[in-house]
Amino acid sequence: MARRQFGVFDGVWLVIGALGLAALPYVERTAAGASSEAPLFEQAIPGSTLRWYKGNTHTHTLNSDGDSTADEVVRWYREHGYHFLVLTDHNFLTAVDGLNAVHGANEKFLVVKGEEVTSSFQSKSVHVNGLNVSSQVEPTRNAASVVATIQGNVDAIRKADGVPHINHPNFQWSITPEDLRQVKNNRLLEVYNGHPTVHNAGGGSVPGLEQVWDQLLSQGITLFGIAVDDAHTFKQPGNPDAAGPGRGWVAVRAARLEPRALLDALERGAFYASTGVELVDVKSSATALTVEVRPRGDFKYRVRFIEKGGQVLHESIEPTATYTFKGGEGYVRATVTDSGGRIAWVQPVFVK
Ligand SMILES: [Zn+2]
Ligand SMILES: [Zn+2]
Repeated sequence: MARRQFGVFDGVWLVIGALGLAALPYVERTAAGASSEAPLFEQAIPGSTLRWYKGNTHTHTLNSDGDSTADEVVRWYREHGYHFLVLTDHNFLTAVDGLNAVHGANEKFLVVKGEEVTSSFQSKSVHVNGLNVSSQVEPTRNAASVVATIQGNVDAIRKADGVPHINHPNFQWSITPEDLRQVKNNRLLEVYNGHPTVHNAGGGSVPGLEQVWDQLLSQGITLFGIAVDDAHTFKQPGNPDAAGPGRGWVAVRAARLEPRALLDALERGAFYASTGVELVDVKSSATALTVEVRPRGDFKYRVRFIEKGGQVLHESIEPTATYTFKGGEGYVRATVTDSGGRIAWVQPVFVK
């Protein structure tokens, strides 16, 4: 008998995926998105009092190694259909009250404070985002291992009432699946990061991030996959080799546009991650997972339902796709890929 264990949020879940974005430079995709064929991001969820809020949880400004002021960075997201943005400078907590006074608008746009807690172990980079931390977090230094360094940062973020997410494991080939397996009290993992040198797809003998995610889920680790920009560069639009904005985002299913509501939903898996594919809804019951795509122009879509071990259970080319649980899947997640290579990742539902 199939049974839901995690991630219930008003009957919805999401998943992740990480490859496939490659072909088009983002600015071209933005230009296409601005054309008449493209629907705007739809906030309402049919039949629900909850809404989708589109956001990015990983962005830099001049307060660390970004190329633009916080005002310019926030303005970009405000003008490009996002509902929230977390500013995450390296080891610096950028103030957001003034930014919200200018750009914030009730139920329309919110800036959330955050920090990329940035440390290393020997040659390995260990970056953990702290979302909505109450004060600046000191990175863990001189720990005994990569795992201890990650855990120190996760614990410090929790202590500051923030929500951690582990960033770009393959950046400088730093964090292995075995490292990630050992981390406690972390629920979110970047499975897609828009920075051009973070190796989302893996390479050589190193697995890509979607494969890493499946490995961890298969080992019983509850992790939800997020997509982020890690934007640093706002002054080179059209350059795919620069860390520009608009490449990876999440749509969070929440009751209101407020930091706690958004972050609680993220930690329950009440969201989907995307490089451009939009969903109307994700529904989960005790017996099935249903994904409804929001078609765009003449793009075609393929929905894949995936179980333990990363095995594909079922494929559909219909805009509304359902997988009925048989029992024994371990977990069921879904990806939606469009004919331009963009992906949405629906979070896993845990099925005994
Ligand atoms: Zn980083
Ligand atoms: Zn970063």
